[in-house]
Amino acid sequence: MKHIDSKKIKLHRGDITRLNTIAIVNAANKTLLGGGGVDGAIHRAAGKHLLEECRTLNGCETGDAKITKGYNLPAKFVIHTVGPVWNGGKYNEAEKLASCYQRSLEVAVENGVKTIAFPNISTGVYGYPKNEAAQIAIREVHRFLEKNSEIDEVIFCVFDNENFEIYQHILYS
Ligand code: ADP
Repeated sequence: MKHIDSKKIKLHRGDITRLNTIAIVNAANKTLLGGGGVDGAIHRAAGKHLLEECRTLNGCETGDAKITKGYNLPAKFVIHTVGPVWNGGKYNEAEKLASCYQRSLEVAVENGVKTIAFPNISTGVYGYPKNEAAQIAIREVHRFLEKNSEIDEVIFCVFDNENFEIYQHILYS
């Protein structure tokens, strides 16, 4: 998708735990009880009260999203979503990844969140091919923003070089 004209979409390279958007999205696992990668970084930065609140949520299905407070994070909320594990592409991975972005944005709107940052869900340990994942992420955010005026800003927070180059290419070339 080229020439996305939405001024609401931004690309940022760095650590999502440092962002002061109203919500940041966590690429969690189904237990919501913490893990490695961005999930571990978010729990470390938010402090132990985040885990205490997550324990009350009874986990989360792949493709769904649940919200908590942000505790010691600059962000007021964390929206935890569970991306699909890449298994070759024949197990509805694309649909589930799209659902992560849709559900996270729905939960954001339900909670009055106007600015939100996404990590590159499923592209770390879960092994989703980065280019395909970026196409889905950008497409779904764009579709959502076309239909919903409540969100003012969506930041794609990229961490690794490869994702940075992929997002730059899709968004700006
Ligand atoms: P998943 O299990 O969904 O694949 P990972 O946390 O392993 O989740 O990776 C998802 C993405 O998060 C990867 O692209 C990785 O580079 C990125 N990432 C890791 N740490 C951070 C961080 N502190 N801030 C933003 N993105 C991060």
